[in-house]
Amino acid sequence: MDNHQIPAADLTADRLALAKSLVVLDIGGTHVRCAAARSGAALEEVQQLSTQIFSNGDPVKVLERIIRGFAADQGLHDFDVVVGLPATLDRDMDVVLKINNIPSLEGLKLRSMLRERFSERVVLEHDIVLQLMGEWFAGTARSSRSVLGVYSGTGVGGAFLLDGAPIRSKSTGIEIGHIPVRNEGRRCVCGRRDCLEAYASGRHLLDWSEKYAVPIERLFIEAKNLPSLAYEVKGFLEDQATAVSTAITLIDPELVVLGGGVIQMAGYPIDDLIEMIRQRLQDPELALSVRFARSMLGHSAAVYGGMCLLSKSK
Ligand SMILES: [Zn+2]
Repeated sequence: MDNHQIPAADLTADRLALAKSLVVLDIGGTHVRCAAARSGAALEEVQQLSTQIFSNGDPVKVLERIIRGFAADQGLHDFDVVVGLPATLDRDMDVVLKINNIPSLEGLKLRSMLRERFSERVVLEHDIVLQLMGEWFAGTARSSRSVLGVYSGTGVGGAFLLDGAPIRSKSTGIEIGHIPVRNEGRRCVCGRRDCLEAYASGRHLLDWSEKYAVPIERLFIEAKNLPSLAYEVKGFLEDQATAVSTAITLIDPELVVLGGGVIQMAGYPIDDLIEMIRQRLQDPELALSVRFARSMLGHSAAVYGGMCLLSKSK
């Protein structure tokens, strides 16, 4: 396996003090990605697995096996561990209080259990916070003072950073996916009704793919030729714009980073989404001043986020 290194952007000298190796496990809605860094630079190799891997057996043993296997493949022996989770953690960032996609992790003192298995430093973080910290550390949000991240994938997650540090009253990011957007009573994966994710998340793209017999990766392209699919896409964007503009109105960030698998899809009408968001913001101050950018680090974002996190937790 080659260990090509992606250049470490223009990280400052103190950031390069992150000489110790790092393995980052980034758990998302449908995939688990394992990545690593050495000497302040992300390694190119990323291992991607389905979250189905957690459906049988002890989930902590599964995590340990993935991390050790990937580290061995990369020739890493002495490394810190960062795990990004689409979960609510307790205030000590130890116990997994709620996780919709991998119920077997719920209730576990996960950081303590991993620390028993790894002699190295182990840190847990909310998955979107971790990705956005990566963009602040080495990507599109570098050095921005106040950044709202909105990541649209299987679900819709958010995070807010002020000078690179997450602002949160508890352990989570910003649950943009669970902002109420309509009043039609549709059930959300969280158990409540009328959240954004009940109307406009990656899960709906699977339904459209079947309904319109269009491969999922071509949905946004084919919408230009299929008026009824275009109508659904418009509603999808309107609901997302309502939730995102609600978050912007509350937080007043200088930059909004848009990321996640849905936003990366071919033909995704990101300019239409941004226009719809601006239309829902107060004119002229918020609507004109807030800037938007696509996330740029892709699968490396979590590993740069891990570097940022460890540099702050020294
Ligand atoms: Zn919900």
